[in-house]
Amino acid sequence: MNASADQSIDYQRVLETIHRDIEPFLKQGQAAQYIPALSGVPLTKFGMALHTLSGETYLIGDAEEPFSIQSISKLFACTLAFRLLGESLWRRLGREPSGTAFNSLVQLEYERGIPRNPFMNAGALVVMDVLCSHFVRADTAVLQFLRRLSANQDVGYDSDVATSELERADRNIAIAHFMRSFGNLHNRVDDVVGTYCRQCAVEMSCVDLAKAVSFLANGGTVPWSRERVLDRSSAKRLSALMLTCGTYDAVGDFVYRVGLPAKSGVGGGIVAVLPGVMGICVWSPGLDRSGNSIAGRQALEWLTTLSGRSIF
Ligand code: GLU
Repeated sequence: MNASADQSIDYQRVLETIHRDIEPFLKQGQAAQYIPALSGVPLTKFGMALHTLSGETYLIGDAEEPFSIQSISKLFACTLAFRLLGESLWRRLGREPSGTAFNSLVQLEYERGIPRNPFMNAGALVVMDVLCSHFVRADTAVLQFLRRLSANQDVGYDSDVATSELERADRNIAIAHFMRSFGNLHNRVDDVVGTYCRQCAVEMSCVDLAKAVSFLANGGTVPWSRERVLDRSSAKRLSALMLTCGTYDAVGDFVYRVGLPAKSGVGGGIVAVLPGVMGICVWSPGLDRSGNSIAGRQALEWLTTLSGRSIF
């Protein structure tokens, strides 16, 4: 499929149909409770944006309102680490779905401190350790990368959310110490976890994120600036990891319904990629038990069903 073949689809109309029908799903689930600064975000928030490779943006609802990107940041941090280390990144990280909660510790003991994938918290902490070893300020490096990819210099992080998460970061601190005991974390635990919490507290809108992820829909090159972020093969590999590991321990059901590589976060955002066509982002704070936005997943399922476009 290519972008010109896609001009037959009226994406704005598809988005408006989704917006009309999504309301019952906005009452479901809960905003993330374990990060106090996120727990009060109204469940009625809903936004969605598409950014095509030919430069059009389609949007509905609260698509221009910044929200806490949380684990969506792991995709971009992993892109930076993969760019730095290439295939050797996989000496410290697996590439398999975990089938466990994103903040679980259980597999780390019998898998000798090697996290299953870069999108669970343990894996994201290893990625952050790689970035901390390479950059003087890894959080600034991730932030600058996100600003460039979204063409929005105003992207920043919410220090209240970062502090709020850090005050309750016992599990992430435990995971980091555990991996350090196996030699798979090289920097100080405080530095890695503090930097990770700031990375998760970055705020972006659906419009920013649809644009930021579009390099993956375009074989690794940012469509408007022509910056090559990843070579084509690496972009394929990262998208494949999103497909198999990007939506927590509900990934099988998510891919069954939606049919796109995606990465979700407990702020209620989900980014997705339709290769050769566009970057996508949806946001609504009500989460299911795995941590995926209920309305967000439903909207993506409708997008691929109504447009007839997915990777399959
Ligand atoms: N900052 C969150 C945590 O570490 C990210 C979780 C997520 O979005 O999956 O728990």
